[in-house]
Amino acid sequence: MNWIAWIILIALIVDYLLNLIADIVNLKHLSPEVPETFQNVYDADRYARSQEYLKVNTRFEWWVSSLDLMIVLIFWFGHGFAYLDDWIRTYNMGPVGSGLIYVGALGFIKLFLSLPFSVYSTFVIEERFGFNKTTVKTFIMDLIKSLVLSIILGAPLLAGILYFFEVAGGNAWWYCWVVVTGFVLIVQFIAPTWIMPWFNTFTPLESGELKDMIINYARSIQFSLENIFIIDGSKRSSKSNAFFTGFGKNKRIALYDTLVDQLSHSELVSVLAHEMGHYKKKHIWINMAIGIFYSGLMFYLLSIFISYDGLFDAFFMSHASVYAGMIFFGMLFTPIDFFLGLFLQSLSRYNEYQADRFAAQTTKKPNDLVSALKKLSVQNLSNLTPHPIYVFLNYSHPPVLQRVKRLRSSENY
Ligand SMILES: [Zn+2]
Repeated sequence: MNWIAWIILIALIVDYLLNLIADIVNLKHLSPEVPETFQNVYDADRYARSQEYLKVNTRFEWWVSSLDLMIVLIFWFGHGFAYLDDWIRTYNMGPVGSGLIYVGALGFIKLFLSLPFSVYSTFVIEERFGFNKTTVKTFIMDLIKSLVLSIILGAPLLAGILYFFEVAGGNAWWYCWVVVTGFVLIVQFIAPTWIMPWFNTFTPLESGELKDMIINYARSIQFSLENIFIIDGSKRSSKSNAFFTGFGKNKRIALYDTLVDQLSHSELVSVLAHEMGHYKKKHIWINMAIGIFYSGLMFYLLSIFISYDGLFDAFFMSHASVYAGMIFFGMLFTPIDFFLGLFLQSLSRYNEYQADRFAAQTTKKPNDLVSALKKLSVQNLSNLTPHPIYVFLNYSHPPVLQRVKRLRSSENY
């Protein structure tokens, strides 16, 4: 084993152990008493149920990540990456054709192995806790649609990247960077009108009190808003959400039908105020800029490693290739990815507080957002007392009690 193999192996194991430890401390941190803020909304039964939900999911995720690690190691040290390549090479499809098949085959193996777990999660766990609304037909259609989508969008992009690395030499990394950035921007632009309606029905919000309230609020903060839609989230789950998609003229705000059922009109406005806060505070652009910078860095480092034999020796490959190099480099990048993930999550938690504060200041009714957050936590059986280590590793949003506390302490606003 060379140093590259050691780095990847250690990164995979450390990542696994760290998550395991976080899970254990997180379960130990459960509080038997309903926290005071929630005493009027959580009855003892439902609270116990939320803890059971956490336990069941933690156990399940332990199984998934253990098997996942085992399969990767068996495939790697059983020379799976090399055998697959040798077999594809017998068809002489050239670097781009072979690359598409190689990456596609690995993706397909991964999907195939993860399928039983997603079936179990949806139809056993979510079902047991009353969240699942997905029918078998919807589940299968979702699978087919995402597969078609990833082929339509992913294959040309991958072919382009492989082609540049074959022919463009030292310029390849920034050619790829420019093309991928343009591609991502275009996909984000067309997603609300071309991609998402494939999975959900978007119905324009009917005129009435709710629409007037949302439009009045948006006007009060000079937020141009033309499209408000209700989407049929209830087709899959009783969990609820609200989000913005797209940007510029194409952006639309989508409220899950489940959310509209669960919250009062002024609570809904406060949730949307939070979402608009993300826009007004430029979080969307900041995240996009970080993403663009990061992909440039990745392509640059990839261009350095792609011609390094050690990368291929680590996976017992008999031939070097751009496509396999991309996969292995992705694995070598795990530690950097891990730290970047931690940074992005803590930035996201910080931005959530900012958006909360924006909503509280502009609606002048922090209590609406407080009651919305509380209702949603109860509805989704959220863990009210996650361990700080677990939050640090996994949460993109601050724990709900901390958000409520900040919203209530008026001196912060
Ligand atoms: Zn948010």
